[in-house]
Amino acid sequence: MNSQNMSFPPQRPRFRKIQSFRTDYAPTTITQYESERSGMQVIVADRKGPKINGYFTLATEILDDSGAPHTLEHLIFMGSKSYRYRGLLDKLAGRAYSVTNAWTAVDHTAYTLETAGWDGFAQILPVYLEHVILPTLTDDACITEVHHIDGEGNDAGVVYSEMQALQYSSGELMDLRARRLLYPENVGFRYETGGMMEALRVLTSQRIREFHKAMYQPQNLAIIVIGEADHDELLKILDDFEESIKDDIPPPDPHFKRPFVDSPQPPPLEKTVVETVEFPEEDESTGEIVVAFFGPSCIDQVQATAMNIIMTYLCGSSVSVIENTMVEKEHLASSVAYWWDSRPNSVIWFQPTGVATEKLAFVEQRLISLLKEVAAKPLDMNYIKECLQREKRQVKLEAEGSEQFYATNLITDYLFGKRDGTTLKDLQSLSEYDALDSWTEEQWRAFLKKWISDAHHISILGKPSLELANSLKANEEARLAKRREELGKEGLERLRERLETATKNNDQPIPPELLDQWPVPGTSSIHFIESATARSGKARSLGVLDNAAQKTIDAAAQGLPLFVQFEDVPTDFVHLTVHVGMSQTPTKLKPLLPLFAENFFNSPVLRDGKRMEFEDVVKQLEKDTISYHISSSSRLGDYEGVAIQFRVDRERYTTIISWLRTLMFDIIFDPVRIKAAIVKALADVPEAKRDGRAMAQEVDTAIHFKPESYLAAKRTLVKAVYLRRLKKLIEREPETVLSWFEELRKSLFTFENIRVLVTADVAKLANPVAAWDDLTKNPSLDPTKDVLPIPQLHSMLSPEGQSPGAFGSVVIPMTTLDSSYSVSTAAGLKSYADPRLPAYLVALGYLEAAEGPLRNAVRGAGLAYGVFFSHEVDGGYVQFKVYRSPDASKAIEASRATVARLASGEQPLDRHLVEAAVSGVVYGVAEEQATMAAAAQQNYVAGVVRGLEPGWNRKILARVRDVTDDEIRAVLRDLIMPVFEPGKSNVVVTCAPIMQEVRLEPTPFPQLLHHPLLVPPFYTQYILRSPNM
Ligand SMILES: [Zn+2]
Repeated sequence: MNSQNMSFPPQRPRFRKIQSFRTDYAPTTITQYESERSGMQVIVADRKGPKINGYFTLATEILDDSGAPHTLEHLIFMGSKSYRYRGLLDKLAGRAYSVTNAWTAVDHTAYTLETAGWDGFAQILPVYLEHVILPTLTDDACITEVHHIDGEGNDAGVVYSEMQALQYSSGELMDLRARRLLYPENVGFRYETGGMMEALRVLTSQRIREFHKAMYQPQNLAIIVIGEADHDELLKILDDFEESIKDDIPPPDPHFKRPFVDSPQPPPLEKTVVETVEFPEEDESTGEIVVAFFGPSCIDQVQATAMNIIMTYLCGSSVSVIENTMVEKEHLASSVAYWWDSRPNSVIWFQPTGVATEKLAFVEQRLISLLKEVAAKPLDMNYIKECLQREKRQVKLEAEGSEQFYATNLITDYLFGKRDGTTLKDLQSLSEYDALDSWTEEQWRAFLKKWISDAHHISILGKPSLELANSLKANEEARLAKRREELGKEGLERLRERLETATKNNDQPIPPELLDQWPVPGTSSIHFIESATARSGKARSLGVLDNAAQKTIDAAAQGLPLFVQFEDVPTDFVHLTVHVGMSQTPTKLKPLLPLFAENFFNSPVLRDGKRMEFEDVVKQLEKDTISYHISSSSRLGDYEGVAIQFRVDRERYTTIISWLRTLMFDIIFDPVRIKAAIVKALADVPEAKRDGRAMAQEVDTAIHFKPESYLAAKRTLVKAVYLRRLKKLIEREPETVLSWFEELRKSLFTFENIRVLVTADVAKLANPVAAWDDLTKNPSLDPTKDVLPIPQLHSMLSPEGQSPGAFGSVVIPMTTLDSSYSVSTAAGLKSYADPRLPAYLVALGYLEAAEGPLRNAVRGAGLAYGVFFSHEVDGGYVQFKVYRSPDASKAIEASRATVARLASGEQPLDRHLVEAAVSGVVYGVAEEQATMAAAAQQNYVAGVVRGLEPGWNRKILARVRDVTDDEIRAVLRDLIMPVFEPGKSNVVVTCAPIMQEVRLEPTPFPQLLHHPLLVPPFYTQYILRSPNM
């Protein structure tokens, strides 16, 4: 501190603390400030963890479909008054362990800054805020980011392409039509703030600047920060920021109207409207429905929570009345989804999915009549109370484990709550649950009638239409042809030049000296969550550590030697994962696993010698748990297994072990339940088949994995064939199908296959080890056996997957697509012990950096929304993916050329981007371990599944700092370039039919095949065989 500051004590930041309180249900303190100068609000939720999350939120309302809010969101990142370089913000952010992003909702725009450690966050914050408040908003930026016509007469631009992929999707068409019916023209909720394509084509930069001026004022901005924040430094940064912009912004407008709050409110619905909306789709078999009602204000905590509970009561699970009747019993829909939009007049949505097209109108009526039936009879008060208690437990768990809980609530309160902090204060406790606990049956029924069953509603029936798909395509072609004719050769040439100039002006290189003004922050402010490992039973063979948790486990009563790894963190809950291998499961049974999983918690069981119906099983499970889940164990790094997960209050630890025994050994396979699962799964197939990205990935999997692998067996295209046959078979020979399920269960639940991960505050766990005897004593488990090794992903590869390149390429036209997607696969790094691993991680980070070479070559040039690498060291392959491109082959070629120049040294590596790539590896580790449960799971993955030594992650972090440019280039050449080379890589492209003539030029791949979506050789392995087939 110098002498001047000594004589003039620094002025206190001009921020007034409105309030600060600790939440009584989670270890978090919420503090609210307001700038006395500008009215800007600052809301901080302090909680422990390596990450700081910022949400810079503006309430944004507009009364048209121009897309000004969304296009502005993109333009903010193109430069600001003092930093007039596109990409500067993201280059800096990357070096400071940060990632920036943003979204535009119908009622707000939020800019996010996610950082590992406070120091990086503090460095980026002022630069970021200047971009938000004083962006350059140039005409050139509008041309490339929003919309332009390219030299061939096509419409392009980042936002335009984004909306092009969205505008004719069933969800968007239905949602927009519903909102047109819910809201009059003077309410912003009516409009598509993303921008309709026809509006984006004529949107001017002037309109966007006007919108910025009207909405992006500090008094309409909340700085929301979640994580370990340094309040004094935060307020100092914000005060300095306000000082720096004060001459560039108008003084606060005392007549400023708060968007949505001071705007006209929508009138109540005067009548019910049911409309049909067609969406383009070749497969006309199934459609969907949305039904909307107006609900209570989101700011009234009691009413809002009551709405959550009544919706859970109606559709929360297979036993709730709507799901149980329409999905489980009447098979009218594959699910009935529900959600509600938090608004001053909230909107309640029900969405039956996978509905047979000819039954759309009937199913809508059935839903409405069912809601009326429910409200006409007494409600099941026991179940309402259970929903209430369960919801409360879930909120507590979420508040402990996820920053998202605070983000959602703080944003909603800023948008619609009282600015004096009185509504924010409601977050201190969960007292609304106590208030609701005393509601009578009459009160609940009156609530249900008022908002739902007696209320008018808007229903949209979404009907698939091949004709619409064809006419949209024909109209678009005609429109473009007419334009090309009008423009002529000269006109097109002018546009090409204009685009070139804009791109050049946008891409002024950033002087390296400028970036050097910001040093790379240290890592000492990144506080990783420590989770201590302890082991019992067979897990001890992996080694035990000298720590308090292990001492607790060793001192506890020991039981049969089940493989259990404990992770000790200071949580109030128990996260329990049972990891089941499937190496003893016959291939022919693997496609049954998704059905087995669907019914695992949804089947009748034998308990204490008596049959318990599935509804009672679900109700009891809901009572005993916070959540339960079964899925593939891929998130544990094991693609050939199943993960059964429970989250429970600590006192329910032994209860869950007893449930596990029941579910594993005492399920009664019931043909009615199995049929219900088949029907549901089949109904979801058409929708899954519409997804270009997923289909490209599926075909890639079929090429590179053995049919015996679970990854290959669970694909949608396998389901499509297998399930139809299974449905016929179960009608004819139910015993055959039941015997297969029996065989599948026996193959899974053996002592050799089971590993358990318990994440808890170990010292507070009663009987942590011997409690498992309740499960282990089952006669089907033989504790003298050893656990089987976890199969490595690499061993699941087909011969083509072991050494890709012979297959070549396949192009798959899909009617549902307007654009294209691709996956290229080549051999990659194969071992965690490979000394090239640190350079491999840095090289991939370099290519994918937010302002890295690929983004500029591909997204900047309008060739795709994004391109990504994914690398699987366990699988020993590397993949390159193009996401949403007007022509995937051009995006692949541009990427290849870019990587080739870097690999050969023709283009030198950018020092600042290398720094960003190194910081990105650090950020990635913090991101993977952001919560206690995630940090614990990472320990399990590293130690148990991958067999890495303790602290392996930290060692890699130290080594990435020493990676040299030569090492990066060697990795680019030897491990990454092959993904672009014929003979070493295979490529799968899914695309709009109009694009099927794509050629992968100028490096032609052999054997370019044009396939319809069902590629026959890929599913024949699972053809059902029974003695009578
Ligand atoms: Zn966007």
